[in-house]
Amino acid sequence: MPGVLLKLLLAGWLLWTATALAQEGFQVIPLGVAGGLEEDNLSAYLAGPLDRPVFVALDGGTLRVGVRRALAAGSVTLPTEEGGGEQIFLNKRIAAYLISHAHLDHVAGLVINATDDTPKPILATAGVWADLQNHLFNWRIWPNFADEGPPPRLAKYHQQILTPGQVISIADTGMTVEAWPLSHSHGYASTAFLLNYQGHYLLYCGDSGPDVVEKEGRLAALWQRIAPLIRENRLRGILIESAYPSDRPDHLLFGHLTPRHLLAELAVLGREVSLQGVQVIITHVKPGSDGLVAMQNRILAELQEGNSFGVNFHMARQGERLILAHQ
Ligand SMILES: [Zn+2]
Ligand SMILES: [Zn+2]
Repeated sequence: MPGVLLKLLLAGWLLWTATALAQEGFQVIPLGVAGGLEEDNLSAYLAGPLDRPVFVALDGGTLRVGVRRALAAGSVTLPTEEGGGEQIFLNKRIAAYLISHAHLDHVAGLVINATDDTPKPILATAGVWADLQNHLFNWRIWPNFADEGPPPRLAKYHQQILTPGQVISIADTGMTVEAWPLSHSHGYASTAFLLNYQGHYLLYCGDSGPDVVEKEGRLAALWQRIAPLIRENRLRGILIESAYPSDRPDHLLFGHLTPRHLLAELAVLGREVSLQGVQVIITHVKPGSDGLVAMQNRILAELQEGNSFGVNFHMARQGERLILAHQ
């Protein structure tokens, strides 16, 4: 009898230890990171819990090539019984698409791969869904793979509308999402997605201009939302763009950020809460005349130079695996 008790106690202790040591938070796999030009490397990020092999795709600029490169890098794997290859991964590991806005560099991979995809929801605001429906899934640019709009409806993609500020659960992922509007020039709205998995949060920002240029105060409102999450040490990371270098004039931003503007925006957030140790992943760099990597390095250097907050800046690279866990 004492032996059984000991075994039970030991089993309990092992379970507790395993739980305590398990990393809690998110993994993010950038499938495409460039803010234009490189059609095999456009905005798309897989995000999922660390302890479950399931993802949502945050935007869908480049899907198949990104998964191919992530598989080659060992950043993602498949159970051997399911076979290999990017199609299986796309079909079985991506539970839903969250689309920040309908610009081509954020949806091209999704549209092209729709023919071989499995049924899934696409989560987007009403305005973004209207663009997808009216201008892409309309039997003119592409067949209607949605379950709304012009017949016949192929109904591969379930239209799920996100109302800003409302928490929606994402089926089969254990995650919820909250949409926040962003300003993307000339009154055009993009979206930020705040993911929550068991009390851990991850913020993904689609394309956004700075408040000082856009004059709609949307980043300020978003900072008010996430400041308490940073204070409570629940925010595991922020993905946000810096499309151009700091010397880009404001009238040529077209609804994008630069290091100068991003640092100014972080200063606004930094007035609410200490940003020491906050993970900020930089996305959507537009390749310059010397290519993508040279521009990424320049933008990262400009951010580091002005980093008085103690933020951890990281430049997103296609196919890598980022672990954004409880520190
Ligand atoms: Zn874009
Ligand atoms: Zn855009």
